Amino acid sequence: MAEIKKRKSSFLFLPEMRFFWLFFVFVLFSLVAGFFYLSESWVFFDLAILLILGVIIILVYSFRSARVNLAVKVEKTQLSNIITDLYDAVIAYDPNFKVLIFNKAAEKIFNVSAADIIGEYFTPEKAKDRRFSFLCQILFPSLAPLVVRRSEDVTGLQVSDFSFEDPRYDLRVATSKIIDSEGNLLGFVKVIRDRTRELGILRSKSEFIEIAAHQLRTPLTGMLWGWETLSKEDLSKEQMEIAKSGLAATKIAIENVSDLLDVAKIEEGKFDYQFEEIDLISFISEVFEGFIDLARQTNIKLFFQKPKEKEIKVAADKHKLSIVLSNLITNAIKYNVENGQVTVALTKLNNQPFAQIIIKDTGIGIPAKDAQRLFTKFFRAENAVKSVTEGIGLGLYITKNIVKAHGGEIWVESEVNRGSTFYITLPTDRSLIPSKTAQIMEEY
Ligand code: ADP
Repeated sequence: MAEIKKRKSSFLFLPEMRFFWLFFVFVLFSLVAGFFYLSESWVFFDLAILLILGVIIILVYSFRSARVNLAVKVEKTQLSNIITDLYDAVIAYDPNFKVLIFNKAAEKIFNVSAADIIGEYFTPEKAKDRRFSFLCQILFPSLAPLVVRRSEDVTGLQVSDFSFEDPRYDLRVATSKIIDSEGNLLGFVKVIRDRTRELGILRSKSEFIEIAAHQLRTPLTGMLWGWETLSKEDLSKEQMEIAKSGLAATKIAIENVSDLLDVAKIEEGKFDYQFEEIDLISFISEVFEGFIDLARQTNIKLFFQKPKEKEIKVAADKHKLSIVLSNLITNAIKYNVENGQVTVALTKLNNQPFAQIIIKDTGIGIPAKDAQRLFTKFFRAENAVKSVTEGIGLGLYITKNIVKAHGGEIWVESEVNRGSTFYITLPTDRSLIPSKTAQIMEEY
């Protein structure tokens, strides 16, 4: 539309109008000259030509502006049709909350007709009217029961998730400002996506996993107890091997079930955190100690490089953080090579409110093409599948969630057949830990 406006204002100065202007100046000049030197009839002739030129200008101008108006009209109609038929609800309103646009999808979600809304001024008090109460909660988010702010980017686009219980509604609302070319605020536009069905499916999937995992856990715990008891008996060498492999397989099955349960909880937003102040040095030492036996049995050398500080305090959920460390150290041992090494290091970052944990191994490494997918659900790199058959690819997904919920970051550097280094940062400043509601999964 901006282009049309430009074309419209500059039409008299288009290159093809050059000859027209030259002729116009010539006629004007001959008219002035005619007054002083030529006959009366010549002056009339000049005036007639000027008149004809004037009429031509008006005709050309009207024709062009009619064309421009038609183009603007077509563009406007197309735009309005697009907005009307959009799958997402669109509501636009001015700074006084007078509604300007309310499309079909908005009518469907809010169960009110556009005719009752467009031109109306909205205030929080209007929420008392049952017809407008739902809409008011979107226009004035402080009235809504649960709002999770997702992002606010530099362009001012603000994305929030709204959840309502009765009836169930999950809406993602993107709000942006309408600003004119001089920077004046003209209003706001909200684009609302109804995610009720999508999240409902996700929820029932998670519920299914949760129920199935719960049902499996009880018999597996019984089996574990049985194998443990059996392996303490006086058995023949062969029988002892069977008992030990039964015990190992049951332990893996229990770990997998526990990972599935954790994932289901994460996706349902039920993975609760109990933060307390801990000293990272003694905490990591404790977890580290627990791996010394496993490292010895698998011929891996295990080191812990302590920081120069006496203690590094962070706010953390001890149980969740031990899941993170256990996953990373287990992987570093599991995906290592014969006589390999694993080094766990802790440092306090200079001039930054973060501690950094590094877990470095000399193992099989991660192919560059897989690095992006490493922290997604059920992903296992091909070289890992070949070297270790067990594993369901949930550990790093859970790990990343826990680190993020602590306000930290996790990333990896790796080279195939040379080893991998996982880095974790954790804030030493409690205010950098995100609020509880913001911990719901990114994929939601
Ligand atoms: P799992 O170990 O059960 O496969 P994880 O989520 O812990 O699941 O790891 C996902 C994948 O990341 C692994 O299958 C493997 O491909 C890769 N991976 C993780 N840690 C390492 C490591 N230290 N060295 C090499 N590959 C690794």
